[in-house]
Amino acid sequence: MVHRFPLPASLKSIRNYVDGEFVTTGKLFDNISPLDGQPLAQVHEADAALVDRAVRAARHAVEEGPWGRSTVEERAKTLHRVADVIERRFDEFLAAEVADTGRPLEQARKLDVYRGIANFRTFADLGRVAHGDFFETTLADGTRLINYTVRKPLGVVASISPWNLPILSLTWKAAPALICGNAIVCKPSEETPSSATLIAEACHEAGVPPGVFNVVHGFGPGSAGEALTRHPGIDAVTFTGESRTGSAIMKAVADGVKEVSFELGGKNGAIVFADADFDAAVDGVLRSSFTNTGQVCLCSERVYVERPIFDRFVAALKAKTEALKIGWPDEPGVAMGSLISHAHRDKVLSYFKLALEEGAQLISGGGVPHFGDERDGGAFVQPTIWVGLPDDARCMNEEVFGPVCHLAPFDSEDEVIRRVNASSYGLASSIWTNHLGRAHRVAPRLHVGIVWVNTWFSRDLRTPFGGSKLSGIGREGGRHSLDFYSETSNICIRV
Ligand code: NAD
Repeated sequence: MVHRFPLPASLKSIRNYVDGEFVTTGKLFDNISPLDGQPLAQVHEADAALVDRAVRAARHAVEEGPWGRSTVEERAKTLHRVADVIERRFDEFLAAEVADTGRPLEQARKLDVYRGIANFRTFADLGRVAHGDFFETTLADGTRLINYTVRKPLGVVASISPWNLPILSLTWKAAPALICGNAIVCKPSEETPSSATLIAEACHEAGVPPGVFNVVHGFGPGSAGEALTRHPGIDAVTFTGESRTGSAIMKAVADGVKEVSFELGGKNGAIVFADADFDAAVDGVLRSSFTNTGQVCLCSERVYVERPIFDRFVAALKAKTEALKIGWPDEPGVAMGSLISHAHRDKVLSYFKLALEEGAQLISGGGVPHFGDERDGGAFVQPTIWVGLPDDARCMNEEVFGPVCHLAPFDSEDEVIRRVNASSYGLASSIWTNHLGRAHRVAPRLHVGIVWVNTWFSRDLRTPFGGSKLSGIGREGGRHSLDFYSETSNICIRV
């Protein structure tokens, strides 16, 4: 079948990358386009033996190969060369990301591929300036010591990534792991395997030594994901995905007491105060609820609006939401692409139904758009706004991971803080206000890893990123990533 948005030529079939070689296997699964429900390419699933080969190659690379003896300066140059290749082959990465996810081209250009390049460059440069501690010490008997710390790689890192931002998620883990001198085995999502193999091509072309960067394809339980996280030869797991998968992985690594870094789900609350710049808040909530068709862990699915502006806010958000253009990735002005799959659309639609059963009043959307052309074959869904749900409704507590937004009025700071915090998740929040003191008062009281004030999803890669409660364990970003991907040793010298 000829796809409107095909994969680049090198991905006719999607191969694993192990020990510097592209590896095919006897077991294939389909990479399905969310835009037409048809297979884009076949993916070679890695079995436990291939995962074992990847982990052993990674171990060899850090313990015996040139990577293990490389300086941070050499690794930084290598990572910049990988970024150069991605930049040169930008259009192939763009095509792969759009074909796998069905998202607007402009988004994939400015967010996904851009961030892939930025992750390699940022961590290459941060690695160069990473510093440790230094102390001069005098003991009671007059003995003089100097203490200093060195950073050493953990060894072999297993990376398990999700489908919602494939290039971004994988490179966000691989770049800091590599600059710290580790080798990595990456298991991308079975829904979005293409860009991982393209990144392997970029690493190959950039001269990353064999075994340092590996990709194994497959599913979670009973497949490559489980084989990798259960492998005794890994030293740490960095995982992004659903909270219950994080829990399964934690059990898998418990016996070996491996280090974990988990970026998990969210049910994020946004707060709009009556003193906010009204139009900016409407635009901000529109973006934070519907970007990437609501498939960003940071999206706001719960929005609390101060009562005096509530009705006006609901009307303004409804008008802007209904003006959002849904369609093919390359349509001029398109704001929302498809969901990741038809199966995920079924899940999102089940929440549309549940919300009404739970007493929601539908303000906008609530179904599937009808185009009257071939777009009807895509996994599209309408951006949906509800009001009227009680705070204990399932739709107010479970992550839908689709373009949904529930608006509720509130009357006081203390009340809204309590309601936003009354969630088993704790990833992100955004506050819309022009009151400086209020912003500083409210932000630290929210039990989340990231609070944005008058903005959303604006990231500086040097800042800590992660969640509390069911939203994750640990922080990555900047030195926090370097701290996770390296082991610190103290060296104490008598002088
Ligand atoms: P998922 O947990 O279903 O899958 C993520 C990855 O884990 C996939 O590669 C999958 O194959 C693998 N996997 C599944 N079961 C496994 C197991 N038992 N052992 C090993 N690997 C296993 O998540 P998803 O549906 O791909 O992604 C959406 C979720 O990711 C949402 O909950 C979203 O909030 C979350 N997410 C969080 C962040 C964050 O930074 N906090 C970022 C992006 C996505």
